[in-house]
Amino acid sequence: MSYVFTPPAPVAVPVAGRPEKFPVHRIYCVGRNYEDHAKEMGFTGREPPFFFLKPADAVLVVAEGETGTLPYPSLTKNFHHEIELVVAIGKGGRNIAAADAFAHVFGYAVGLDMTRRDLQNEMKKQGRPWSIGKGFDHSAPIGPIVPREQAGDVEKAEIWLQVNGADRQRSTVAKLIWSIAETIEHLSAAWELQPGDLIYSGTPEGVGAVVPGDLLEGGVAGIGTLRLKVA
Ligand code: MN
Repeated sequence: MSYVFTPPAPVAVPVAGRPEKFPVHRIYCVGRNYEDHAKEMGFTGREPPFFFLKPADAVLVVAEGETGTLPYPSLTKNFHHEIELVVAIGKGGRNIAAADAFAHVFGYAVGLDMTRRDLQNEMKKQGRPWSIGKGFDHSAPIGPIVPREQAGDVEKAEIWLQVNGADRQRSTVAKLIWSIAETIEHLSAAWELQPGDLIYSGTPEGVGAVVPGDLLEGGVAGIGTLRLKVA
């Protein structure tokens, strides 16, 4: 096989404690999946889950123990953090029942759904796609993937984010409106999930802006800590 130009290297995320990497297929994100975050965005109640995507190469890998560099993106004056539990799919499928969902999960990671909030809000107002607000380069920082067997009880894990050492977001995965299993059920009804898919499961309340020089440090208990400096 020859190509008209050299294809890019596969996007891959390290796996904690293993030499093999996890090759990324797609990045799905769940919108407004914690009640208090839905409220801070001006919504209430349990609406059916909805999804948006980021390109796979929006991943910004931060290796264990490292401080990543997060470039401040173009066009925005309101660059928001959203700390999220990321679910890594190891076995694909369509119409997966919630009761069977965990058999499809390879592992979990700590991620950030970085958002150009001003652009997202403008698109919302105009009824246009969110891509420019959500799917830009380096918008999906992620730490190493912890295999499911080693992850502990993520469904009740604390999730938190500090900026320059001060708390911005602190909650528990138990407060997800749509649980991990329910999310997989809904998502796999709309798309056939593939090994390598990542699901950013939503962010708790406390989202806010960062500026160049800020240090973001966030984590999910049992999964790890993600550290990045905004450049
Ligand atoms: Mn999000």
